[in-house]
Amino acid sequence: MSRFLVLLGATLLLWQALRSVVQQIGGEQNRVGPDPRAPEDRPREVTGKLVRCVRCGVHLPQERAILDGGQAYCGESCRAKAPATTAD
Ligand SMILES: [Zn+2]
Repeated sequence: MSRFLVLLGATLLLWQALRSVVQQIGGEQNRVGPDPRAPEDRPREVTGKLVRCVRCGVHLPQERAILDGGQAYCGESCRAKAPATTAD
C-alpha cells in the first residue's frame, strides 16, 4: 500500500511539473501575439497604432500623423497635396 502512495505522489509531482512546463510554453506563445501590455517587446518607442498616409501610403505612428477630416497624413506636404474630398 505504501508503494502505491509513493507512486501516486510521484505521479502528482510529475503532473504538476508537466503543467508548469505547459504553462510556460503557453505563456511564451502568448507573448508572440499582439499584446498591448508588453511595450518592451516593440523594437522602437512606438506605442500607439500605425496609421497609413492616405496620400503617399507610408505608415507612421498615429501620434506623429497629421489628422485632417478623419484622414491621416505623414506630413504637411502630403496634406496640402491631398484632395479636399476623397471619392470612395
Ligand atoms: Zn504622405
